[in-house]
Amino acid sequence: MTSRIVILGGGTGGTLTANRLRRLYPPEDAAITVVDQDDRHVYQPGLLFVPFGLTHSEDIVRPRERQLHDGIEFIESAIDRVDIVANEVHLANNVTLGYDVLVVATGARLVPEETEGLLGPGWMNNVFTFYTPEGAGALGAALATFDHGRLVVNVVDMPIKCPVAPLEFCFLADWYFTERGIRDRVQITYATPLDGAFTKPIAAAKLGGMFEERGIEIVTEFNTGEVDPGGRLVAYDGREVPFDLAVVIPLHGGATYVGRSPGLGDELDFVPTDDHTLQSKAAPNIFVIGDAANVPTSKAGSVTHFEGDTLVGNVRRFLAGEPLEPGFDGHTNCFIETGFHKALLIDFNYDTEPQPGHYPTKVGLPLLKESRVNHLGKLLFESVYWHALLPGRDLPGLTSTMPVSGKELPDIQED
Ligand SMILES: Cc1cc2nc3c(=O)[nH]c(=O)nc-3n(C[C@H](O)[C@H](O)[C@H](O)COP(=O)(O)OP(=O)(O)OC[C@H]3O[C@@H](n4cnc5c(N)ncnc54)[C@H](O)[C@@H]3O)c2cc1C
Repeated sequence: MTSRIVILGGGTGGTLTANRLRRLYPPEDAAITVVDQDDRHVYQPGLLFVPFGLTHSEDIVRPRERQLHDGIEFIESAIDRVDIVANEVHLANNVTLGYDVLVVATGARLVPEETEGLLGPGWMNNVFTFYTPEGAGALGAALATFDHGRLVVNVVDMPIKCPVAPLEFCFLADWYFTERGIRDRVQITYATPLDGAFTKPIAAAKLGGMFEERGIEIVTEFNTGEVDPGGRLVAYDGREVPFDLAVVIPLHGGATYVGRSPGLGDELDFVPTDDHTLQSKAAPNIFVIGDAANVPTSKAGSVTHFEGDTLVGNVRRFLAGEPLEPGFDGHTNCFIETGFHKALLIDFNYDTEPQPGHYPTKVGLPLLKESRVNHLGKLLFESVYWHALLPGRDLPGLTSTMPVSGKELPDIQED
């Protein structure tokens, strides 16, 4: 019998899952369908570089269907809702898809409308986001004419995609204004809801120190309640941060159809998911990959990639009636661009916070240390994304679980 596997979302997670499953199953064993609301696959890490003129929005977008292997059906339609009892997906184009296994890969959605004033007269005027291609392009034009004043980068609340991207934006802004010879005329402030630059203490101390060295001010535990286009961010506790140009990372939620699908999601429309097997808590035949899951690690493409291994294995085990494997350890790996052609690399999982050392082994890339080789790694990653990660290839030497060899951690056993 041919199993029907429906994958919701044709971004990072949906594409790599479909391609891995297609390689695993011959067409007579599994019919694989991917649904997405549009045909524009954005390489999202590239959005960071757009405002600084280092790339262009159109250069980081490719058609979705072209990233899918032969024998995968692609349907371009919004998803209306999932009926987890009838095992059916209802699409906005009135098509209904029955499934034996459903993979939710619809990522995270920006919800700027949830913050008072954010979409007011300042939006795309003196208030921007670089989290969309349109926003990143418009911000680029605004930065090009910004020659003095207060630049504020603000994360409204967690969770967000790529929690290091706003920090990278600050570092690149420092570099950009230095290159233009006007750094002394621009004040850069980072306003974050966290109590430090990052969630994990060792990395937070390192990144906080780098902010200090560069004269980037950090305002912590700042929960933005209002964006006043007159030039003020106002926190719920009454504190204010003035700005001339604000770069805001809006609140994130899961896809809206999740909220219209009884039993599928939580109050933020993310999908409750087992941290290690990636099976949803909604139904045993629903699995979740990437930003759509509520697992306690970063919402990042690297995480999505590392999850792929476990998820595809467990879809196969589920269809074969075998017990699932709790294979995903929360592995996260992020290059942090720090300006001046350097970057830092962090690597961690659910149990181990970022540590110094090297990745993936003792002779690899330096961890928690700025270097040119990490910057080159970050740039090279775009090609790896299109040509290895999305096609679902294993990356030579890189394991899905976090490697301990190379990390300077006294109580960790070498692997
Ligand atoms: C500015 C920025 C920088 C980043 N930098 C990095 C980085 O350096 N390293 C890193 O690892 N990660 C980075 N990320 C995060 C990374 O891009 C995401 O974590 C990753 O793409 C998640 O994959 P996903 O499949 O879960 O979601 P996505 O790739 O976002 O795919 C979700 C898909 O679901 C579709 N969809 C949603 N709702 C519906 C609906 N109702 N109907 C039909 N289709 C729907 C969307 O159209 C989309 O194609 C960055 C993200 C941003 C925004």
